[in-house]
Amino acid sequence: MSINSLNTSISYLKGVGPSRADLLKSELGIYTFSDLLNFFPNRYIDRTQFFKINQLQQNSSEIQIVGKITNIKTVQQKKGSRLVATFRDETGFMELVWFRGAKWIKDSLKVNIPYVIFGKTTYFNGLFSMPHPEMELVADYKKNLRSAMQPVYPSTEKLINKGISNRVVSKMIQSLFEELNGNFKETLSISIIEELNLISKGEALLNIHFPRNQELLTKAQKRLKFEELFFIQLQLIRKKLVRKAKIKGFNFESVGINFNNFYKNNLPFDLTKAQKRVLKEIRKDLGSNAQMNRLLQGDVGSGKTIVALLTILIALDNGFQAAFMAPTEILATQHYNSVIELLHEMDVTVKLLTGSTKTKERKIIHEQLQSGELDILIGTHALIEDKVKFKNLGIAIIDEQHRFGVAQRSKMWQKNTLPPHILVMTATPIPRTLAMSVYGDLDISVIDELPPGRKEVKTAHRYDANRLSVFKFLKEEIEKGRQVYIVYPLINESEAMDYKDLMDGYESVTREFPMPKYQVSIVHGKMKPADKEYEMQRFIKGETQIMVATTVIEVGVNIPNASVMVIESAERFGLSQLHQLRGRVGRGAEQSYCILMTSFKLSADAKIRLNTMVETSDGFKIAEVDLKLRGPGNLMGTQQSGVLNLRIADIVKDAQLLKTARNVAIETLTKDPSLKEVENLAIRNTYQQISKNSTIWANIS
Ligand code: ADP
Ligand code: MG
Repeated sequence: MSINSLNTSISYLKGVGPSRADLLKSELGIYTFSDLLNFFPNRYIDRTQFFKINQLQQNSSEIQIVGKITNIKTVQQKKGSRLVATFRDETGFMELVWFRGAKWIKDSLKVNIPYVIFGKTTYFNGLFSMPHPEMELVADYKKNLRSAMQPVYPSTEKLINKGISNRVVSKMIQSLFEELNGNFKETLSISIIEELNLISKGEALLNIHFPRNQELLTKAQKRLKFEELFFIQLQLIRKKLVRKAKIKGFNFESVGINFNNFYKNNLPFDLTKAQKRVLKEIRKDLGSNAQMNRLLQGDVGSGKTIVALLTILIALDNGFQAAFMAPTEILATQHYNSVIELLHEMDVTVKLLTGSTKTKERKIIHEQLQSGELDILIGTHALIEDKVKFKNLGIAIIDEQHRFGVAQRSKMWQKNTLPPHILVMTATPIPRTLAMSVYGDLDISVIDELPPGRKEVKTAHRYDANRLSVFKFLKEEIEKGRQVYIVYPLINESEAMDYKDLMDGYESVTREFPMPKYQVSIVHGKMKPADKEYEMQRFIKGETQIMVATTVIEVGVNIPNASVMVIESAERFGLSQLHQLRGRVGRGAEQSYCILMTSFKLSADAKIRLNTMVETSDGFKIAEVDLKLRGPGNLMGTQQSGVLNLRIADIVKDAQLLKTARNVAIETLTKDPSLKEVENLAIRNTYQQISKNSTIWANIS
């Protein structure tokens, strides 16, 4: 068979036909022979194992038992009747139950003759029962040949209702194998297969659908998972190499007066080792003639902003402008204020552009940008609007990049004749394994060290019932001159319920902390930007001691004197959000605290989240737990990435294999960048095939 037959429409397969083909397309996305071949079971039932009745466990999966029916009775119930048979083996007895078809089943059952029964058991009142078991006489069971590991394919209700059961799918795949006659092209090189001790492609496909035994199934899974991850990595790394070789970038060859003056006179502290290392990595990129596309990861408070500013100054030194984009107005304003302060007495023009910038000011900004008078533009999404044109944009910094969509980020690329250098920053650490898949085509820098002298934030979990003692503690801290955040969940901006919680909370706080002794600020998403800013400023200046807020303060806000973070209904927040919120305190010299308030009713997941927060402040550890709890698809910033639509591999469970795949991909491309060696012919063919067929790659960063 030629390779083309894999592209044959599924409707030509024996046993399929047009109407089934339509269902396969709409329900499972199976269009061709190849799609069906790569439609893998999501689990297997081990039909080699038998249970005894006294070994049964509550909530077990499908099992099989050998025994005999000793008694059959019909039980009348409100609607119709049900058939109940007593089933015994030498260790005990259980019941088999039928709610439908009782009449004809009753006639077909044989008493005192050994059966193999198969199905799920339920447990009630000390008795196990199996509803609607699959049954076969032991004599027949022995005659039939079957695969020991029975594959179970993903399915949908519609498919089942239309009669496309698991057995039907299995049959289709069987005729597919007959049709293809075992001709499967190898996709990997011999040296990779040998080095990793993999089985061949053909053997893997056969055993994933019809496993001969557990060992071969495991080998088939390993081979196919590796292959899937390998080709993803190969594409990501190749893309990165191509970008480096082809996409020319502005060459920032010199470090000049701005950078040097700042470093000598204005830098308020010594950089940490990690900040210096990252800065070196960035400088190397900027002077390499290629466009920089780098992700800077660093835990909350690790000091990414100063790295961003130094990077900007290098751009300025080379005659370029810089853009610095943040996801919220509060954060953009804060960046603006701190940049202005850091650059004091330097001859650099900085402006702020957000949704609430007045038309007149906006016009001035547009003009200054185009004339080149403006050096640094800081702002929100407003920065990427088409109207915003630079004379010579050299670098774009995107803070908290997971808050931006891929499309928004890529708009930055079009702001100059050559794409500007891009530095994206994130304080939501994603586990390395995931970063490799999602951001595999970016270079990654990590600030893995906090500035010296930071005290770890003491974190405690308290129940609502203990609120009074929490308030007492807040009063003591305020007495010492500290400031307090109290944050309410606002999961859905439009949900009236959440606002009610916030307002009720605000009221009870003002009652407990009355004026004039205490001043309480409130900030939430429905306020006008100017009002928000006014309240923020009061808190920053220390005029108010308590800030009641929603998660608008989650990202980036930096107020060193605020040392207590109270999170209300903490069970409703995700781990990364809790971590971000906690990162708002612990920024000054004082001991800081984070108090997680919850009701007594907590889900198992919520308990894990709260315990994790109490036990660790390491963002990477927290991210690992988050990944395990929620699965990779739900992590911030990864949703749009098609990279996670894997057929067989699992980024969490197969993290080790992913690392191997990445290393092998790097090794392969290092030795043979364009895959033109004879040895890599199979890889190249597959690679080209995948690149042609897949659309997901267009979505990566
Ligand atoms: P993030 O990485 O979360 O954006 P920031 O850049 O806001 O962190 O920095 C957090 C705080 O740490 C700021 O107040 C900043 O001035 C301070 N900081 C940054 N780097 C250092 C350093 N090397 N030594 C001391 N303080 C630093
Ligand atoms: Mg920041």
